[in-house]
Amino acid sequence: MGNPHFLTIPFPILGHMNPLMQFSQVLAKHGCKITFLTSDENYNKMKTTSINDGEGKLMEPHINLVSLPDGVNPQDDRKDLAKVILSTRITMSPMLPKLIEDINNLDSDNKISCIIVTKNMGWALEVAHQLGIKGALFWPASATSLVSFNSMERLVEEGIVDPQSGIPRKQEIQLSLNLPMMEAAAMPWYSLSNAFFFLHMMKEMQNVNLGEWWLCNTSMDLEAEAISLSPKFLPIGPLIGNEDNNIGSLWQEDETCLEWLDQHKPKSVIYVSFGSLISIGPNQFKELAIGLDLLKRPFLWVVRKDMAHMNNVLENEYLDELFKGNKGKIVSWSPQKKILCHPSIACFITHCGWNSTIESVCSGVPLLCWPFFSDQLMNKTYICDVWKVGLGFEKDENGLITKEEIKKKVDELLEDEEIKERSLKFMEMVVKNKSEGDKNLNKFINWAKE
Ligand code: UDP
Repeated sequence: MGNPHFLTIPFPILGHMNPLMQFSQVLAKHGCKITFLTSDENYNKMKTTSINDGEGKLMEPHINLVSLPDGVNPQDDRKDLAKVILSTRITMSPMLPKLIEDINNLDSDNKISCIIVTKNMGWALEVAHQLGIKGALFWPASATSLVSFNSMERLVEEGIVDPQSGIPRKQEIQLSLNLPMMEAAAMPWYSLSNAFFFLHMMKEMQNVNLGEWWLCNTSMDLEAEAISLSPKFLPIGPLIGNEDNNIGSLWQEDETCLEWLDQHKPKSVIYVSFGSLISIGPNQFKELAIGLDLLKRPFLWVVRKDMAHMNNVLENEYLDELFKGNKGKIVSWSPQKKILCHPSIACFITHCGWNSTIESVCSGVPLLCWPFFSDQLMNKTYICDVWKVGLGFEKDENGLITKEEIKKKVDELLEDEEIKERSLKFMEMVVKNKSEGDKNLNKFINWAKE
């Protein structure tokens, strides 16, 4: 039997596309063929990035890019996840069997042998099941967060979670004896607790359970207890080593920040980024800007163009006024993996997205946690309380992280030799044991070949 042909289908947002593309690249390097399916909208965006030859063909052998409409209207808000979830399922699901048939007709010697989906695309595992094709889940977050979703039904049965809304009835939840006790608000479904998401995730978990494997960008060093809770877990992380080739990225990376970093002393620059989705309000934005200025340390700050009010802020040269110290550099999108590996980075102010967390841990960069919603609060618990490689910001009575708090915590972290040393040791261990993830990857490829 030849090498397997995988159809990889991410939910069409960057936080899913990036890691699944990265994983697709790893599979391609092992000789597997990949058809990467995305929405027409993202396909067009990918065409304009440097990773493409301009004809819609990725400059990566063995990876073919295809697309289907996701049904979201141009005037609709793509940040409305409920809309995108519903629309992708309703629009793409009936078109998938025909697409698979067409792909197989074009390549009858190497037909699709396995479908890999991310969260919210579980319907495609149902399609795979019906067509007799193997299926697996690629979970673009921590194993613990998947455990939390998979525990929802049990938590409802035990009366811990309200069956209608999904709102927890307890202040703290421990998902299993060996997992840390966490505030109920740290459950990834807490901030999405409404009838739609709750019902969607209950159904999604049924589909996810159709997958033979739950592939996670994690490792035993990071989450042994969670991984041990299901035989479906296959930790294939940490997925590192592709820093030069961010081909899943939808936004053009500003490489000038690397030259800027070269001009700074080792471990002197504070890196600030809140990932691809989070927007902070104008008051909080100002507070952060002044907090960074108060630090009197160089900083590199990602302010995405899609944050509407930020555009105003930037156009009005408001920042120039704020940054009297003139020590900061602002970019709209950075080559983050390269940034975190750069010797001049001292720490990372982060929203605690799982990819950012893993990238930082694998670079030995200590973190300052500023979680917003979803799995970010849970990741913060791991960073601060389990791995102990970072500190968390505290909000004031108005829910604001003040400039004083920002200065205090960054100074505290940068003076804490124990955390800095622990971050480096933790990185060494996690990176050294990468071979375990590689073994699991081979196991997965061999299974797909059978
Ligand atoms: N990222 C990037 N440049 C930036 C900011 C983020 O390349 O300026 C990448 C980052 O390396 C990570 C992803 O975007 O791979 C963000 O994923 P994460 O899970 O941290 O957060 P999300 O965007 O899903 O909230």
